[in-house]
Amino acid sequence: MSKVLVNEFFVHGMKKPNRTYAVYGGLISPFILDIGSEKYIMPGWYKLDKDEYNIKVEDIKFYPYKPSKDDKPNIQSDKVYKVTSSKGDKVYEVKANSSGSLECECPGYGFRRSCRHIKEVTESLI
Ligand SMILES: [Zn+2]
Repeated sequence: MSKVLVNEFFVHGMKKPNRTYAVYGGLISPFILDIGSEKYIMPGWYKLDKDEYNIKVEDIKFYPYKPSKDDKPNIQSDKVYKVTSSKGDKVYEVKANSSGSLECECPGYGFRRSCRHIKEVTESLI
């Protein structure tokens, strides 16, 4: 889903507000749709007022949908992920703890509470 956000601000000495437009979400770049005598910012179906008809498509900022880095990976609590160490001589077990985050048995994790193995598992799950 896309939505159009409009910011209005008054520049000192001007009677009309300045507007900036931004389309958030979706994957389609903004465009202006004419239906009969009406104009819309698409996607998002923002209906333009008559005094906004001088808008140019370049004036619309576009923030496409991006999966957030904070999206929780799909961790299965009963699953053990085996990750080979960087030297290739060891296999570490990465598994979910009771609070649902991943833990690794390697020394680096014990030390820093994060390690490459967890990163690899997390990236493979997103
Ligand atoms: Zn590790």
